[in-house]
Amino acid sequence: MNPPGGSTRVTARTDSPEATRALASALAELARPCDLLLLVGDLGAGKTAFTQGFGRGLGVDDQITSPTFALVQSYTGRLDLYHLDVYRLEQINEALDLGLSEMLDDDSVTIIEWGDTITRALPRDYLEVRITFGEEDEDRVLELTPVGSRWQARMRAVGIALASWTGAEDVARGPEDGVEPC
Ligand code: ADP
Ligand code: MG
Repeated sequence: MNPPGGSTRVTARTDSPEATRALASALAELARPCDLLLLVGDLGAGKTAFTQGFGRGLGVDDQITSPTFALVQSYTGRLDLYHLDVYRLEQINEALDLGLSEMLDDDSVTIIEWGDTITRALPRDYLEVRITFGEEDEDRVLELTPVGSRWQARMRAVGIALASWTGAEDVARGPEDGVEPC
């Protein structure tokens, strides 16, 4: 449960790949030029599914696929999107060789799968999205933690945008059974 007010971390839950895409699409509404997101989580957690939904929210029409072999793909949308998967990088320098700093300076949004492995090469201003497996096959827990001020300032808005997946809506509305509106 997310404490009200000054909470910095938002925790959400999804129960299908489409729900993860829908959540990410809602988050993308809050995206601004030069934003950076790091996606953390084991293989199959849903990092690429999240990116597909995020792209949809940015108005990207092209199909977003895993960039594991290409390492970086770019897409055109309301904001352009760079999608990196650095799982196979052996050295942090390789991330810089990909032109990472140019991407971050561009008026685009950059999403990096396995980004926690290269944080030393990144600005300390990003949203970390950590995806873990829940109880059932398709359950996932997404923990969104702002690092630095860019996303910190938006976490209230993030909590509101993701209310369908954080349970906050239910809390605000109270139990549904037999409760008449005033
Ligand atoms: P990653 O990029 O983290 O390795 P992918 O997004 O490529 O993961 O794959 C996630 C897999 O898990 C897909 O096969 C997807 O259908 C499945 N899946 C099941 N439930 C979910 C969920 N709630 N969110 C995201 N993916 C899910
Ligand atoms: Mg992936």
